[in-house]
Amino acid sequence: MMQIEEWVEGAATAVILGHTHPDGDCVGSCLGLRSYLRAVKPELRVQVYLEPFAEEFHFLAGADTVSADFHEKKRFDICFALDCSDRERLGDAAGYLDAAERTVCLDHHITNEGFADVNVICSQASSTSEVLAELMEPARIDRATAECLYLGIVHDTSVFKHSNTSEKTMRIAGALLSKGVSSSHIIDDTFYRKTFGQNRILGCALLAAELRLEGRLIASCVTGEDLARCGVTNRDLDGIIDQLRVTEGVEVAVFLYEAGPGMFKVSLRSNDLADVSRIARSFGGGGHVKAAGCTVSGTREEILERVTALAAEQLRQEPSERGGRPDGAGNEREKNGRNTCYK
Ligand code: AMP
Ligand code: MN
Ligand code: MN
Repeated sequence: MMQIEEWVEGAATAVILGHTHPDGDCVGSCLGLRSYLRAVKPELRVQVYLEPFAEEFHFLAGADTVSADFHEKKRFDICFALDCSDRERLGDAAGYLDAAERTVCLDHHITNEGFADVNVICSQASSTSEVLAELMEPARIDRATAECLYLGIVHDTSVFKHSNTSEKTMRIAGALLSKGVSSSHIIDDTFYRKTFGQNRILGCALLAAELRLEGRLIASCVTGEDLARCGVTNRDLDGIIDQLRVTEGVEVAVFLYEAGPGMFKVSLRSNDLADVSRIARSFGGGGHVKAAGCTVSGTREEILERVTALAAEQLRQEPSERGGRPDGAGNEREKNGRNTCYK
């Protein structure tokens, strides 16, 4: 029996949760697991809870059944927490995890220390969607499930571009394509297409960008006022950090947006030399070696000063002092036996 089928054995109800501000991998893995469970165990009642997510993902099967009501007095036999590096990332949905009979966390964040009864954390995997695809029986993955997982992989690899794209990622993506997924639709319509407002805020962020550390760090920030002027919300900012990161000479990219009064969401990316998960972790956030984030209180200047100092420290160090190989290979957490990675 496949692992997922074993986990839901004897369960009548299941709940699937993802992180706050759900991205493509979060939505894709949650809806992909929902579709798979419906195919392999039709009698199981499955509910997905997620914060409102981007319009582009609404075509995925089951998107119309997702609830954002995090305060229902419901208990589920099994809870799946997907693409979340810690319990806090679940936001207001954490109550469903706490109340569930059994909990399973499936993830790929290097900073995840395992907060569920069962933890499958593969920091080498491109995405939680990739982790899930490996836990599913290939013959029982239908087109609806494949579309969700393919979308998740496309988004977390920025269309198979980031260094987290392995040979295995491509093999899994190929197998998903064989289920009838329209690759060009998913890539063009959910990843590259931008609304006019999204392009305007990208332009605004690029104009506001500044170089620090002799051009090795690039930083930009957009305020609530900028969002209003461009007619967008904080759900329209995907891709900005990636454009900053590919600036010539840059090792670390930092993007801030105002998440509330005196509060900023910080996105961090690195090219080859820095481990940005360490920077994010020192602010209570998390993520991967090359992509991490956190939410920090303070002024834009204060936060940028602190991040710049930590990045400078990273860039001065030898790779061994930075926290292992920049690609995260061989990290201890996968070897300590508490978490499992089915590789
Ligand atoms: P982002 O910059 O928001 O695209 O996030 C980059 C990576 O870091 C993603 O894999 C996120 O899941 C992770 N991440 C972002 N913010 C946080 C946070 N506050 N805590 C833990 N992980 C985070
Ligand atoms: Mn995510
Ligand atoms: Mn992910």
